[in-house]
This record gives sequence, C-alpha cells and structure tokens, in this order.
Amino acid sequence: MEKKGRVFSGARPTGRQHLGNYLGAIRNYVALQDEYECVYCVVDLHALTTLEDTDKLKEWTREMVLDWLAAGMRPEETIIFVQSHVPQVTELHTILSMVTPLGWLTRLPTFKEKVRQQPDNVNYGLVGYPVLMAADIALYKADTVPVGIDQAPHLEFTREIVRRFNHLFGPVLVEPQAKHTDFPKVLGIDGVNKMSKSLNNHIEISASPEEIWQRVRMMVTDPARRYRHDPGHPEVCNVFTLHGFFSPAQVRQIEVDCRSAAIGCVECKKIFARNLSDYFAPFRERRARFAADPDYVWDVLADGARRARAIASQVIDEVKRAVGLP
Ligand code: SF4
Repeated sequence: MEKKGRVFSGARPTGRQHLGNYLGAIRNYVALQDEYECVYCVVDLHALTTLEDTDKLKEWTREMVLDWLAAGMRPEETIIFVQSHVPQVTELHTILSMVTPLGWLTRLPTFKEKVRQQPDNVNYGLVGYPVLMAADIALYKADTVPVGIDQAPHLEFTREIVRRFNHLFGPVLVEPQAKHTDFPKVLGIDGVNKMSKSLNNHIEISASPEEIWQRVRMMVTDPARRYRHDPGHPEVCNVFTLHGFFSPAQVRQIEVDCRSAAIGCVECKKIFARNLSDYFAPFRERRARFAADPDYVWDVLADGARRARAIASQVIDEVKRAVGLP
C-alpha cells in the first residue's frame, strides 16, 4: 500500500513502559505503521541533559524497545533506532543552532521550567534541547509528527527553525506537520497525578497478572464512596475511566451498578485487573519470547540505525552543500 508520508517520533529511554505510555503514545505508534513510513527513535542524547541515571540508559533502552516490539512495532518495515547511533544528528544540530536565535530558546516555557527543576545544572544542552529535537525530525525529512495538544508548541518551534533554514539556504528541509492524535491524560493509581514512573503511581504494561492486581487494588476511587452501600460517582473515578479502555463491553453496566451501589469497589477493581491482564496477555507472551534472545533488541536497533544512517547521510550532505560547507 502506498504510504501517506514519513512519521518521526522519539522517546527518552525510560525502561518498562506503563499504561500512560501505552495509551498516550505506543498504541498510536503501532497504528501509524499501517498508513505511514515510520521512524521511531530512542532519544538517548536528550536523556543526558539531566545527567541522572546514565548507567541505566542501556538497560532502559532495551526494556523500552522490548515493550515497543511486543506492542506491535514491526522492525522489518519501521525504522527503530537509538539517536546516538546516527551521529549525523549532532552535525545537523550544530548547523541548525546557527540559525536559531538564542532569545527563541531562553524564552521557551519548557526551558524556564527546566531551570526551575534543576537550578544547579542549567547546562548548554538544556538550552539547545529544542534544536536537537528539530534536528531529529529534519534529519529524516519527516513530514508528519504525532503530537498531543500540550506538545504542539514544541513542534511549532521545529517548524520555525526549518522555515528559517530554508529561507536562508533554500528549500532543503521538510517542514513537518502535526498529526494530532487522541492522547488522553492517564492518571496514576493515586487518581490525582499523571501516571509517571518517577511518582511511582504507574502500572507497567508488562506486569504479571498478580503484579497488576497488587497495583490495581491500591487505586484511589471515588472519595465520597466510604462504605460499600454508598452510591458511587464513576465520573470522578480513575478505575472507571480506565474501564472505558479495557472493559468496553462492561463499562455501561459498571456505571449503572456503581451509581446504585450494586457493585463494590473491590469487585469493580477485580474486573478491571482481570480485563487489563487479559488485554496484555498476548503482549506478555511476545515480550517473553523476544526477551529470551539477549541479542534480539540490539540486532533490531543495529539494523534500524543502519537504515536511519542511509537517510541521514544523504540529508546532511544536502544541508552542507546548501550552507556552503566545502
Ligand atoms: S465501583 Fe468502580 S467505578 Fe464505582 S467508584 Fe468504585 S471503583 Fe470506581
């Protein structure tokens, strides 16, 4: 089938993925493969800006890619690779940094937020982070980038840098378009904060049925439902929200039974844990198969890097010629 264009997306290596990663990104990554040529990157250089846990980068890369592959990424067609394995990205980063006014970077709310988060380590990489991101996308002439609403300004920044480069040196780079996907905000088991590993409020998609139940039983539900006979308010309950994804056949009945107190929270959570576990059973089986071969992920990433470099070296040659580098 003729593909619509080329998608690029990158994710920091964060190890085993959780439900928030899955619903927010991975399932879209997988679905996009049907219509687009896809380039998916583990952005390990981006992960260096904080200089935390660098000894875990290798392990977290492998664990994340195992999840991607088990979720249905197809390495025989999709390019899956590690950012630092394609050194041309750092060349393009340098060249694009010359066309990016410093004021654009220091004014970005994300930069200001980072300065607040790590005041003792406001490094040069932190300022240039959005330029490296622009280089990631431009290096593969990706025309489409999946983004959630909150990430739209990041992509707009890439588009501005590309426009400026093309204005100065000719139409070499492709201005990527945002593909707004349905990225729901998934709350953690605390029912308050976005699901996140650092807050330890997550449920891993590779968790065993028993591990799933241990996490689900801790989930915060409707705070007004203190006793079993209290009627519930599913609209404020995170378990109910997630039932919407993983229990589509039962969700209407659960809503009715919650409101009338015909079902208790423990029973409701048991249904959810079972459905979640069933949903990811084929995923767990594939993941175990891939993980049994210690070389499999690294072979996939080596092949992906080889294919990525083939595109990158052509583009960087065009860029250098356009700029006038000898
Ligand atoms: S019964 Fe289910 S939906 Fe209702 S409050 Fe309890 S966990 Fe939430």
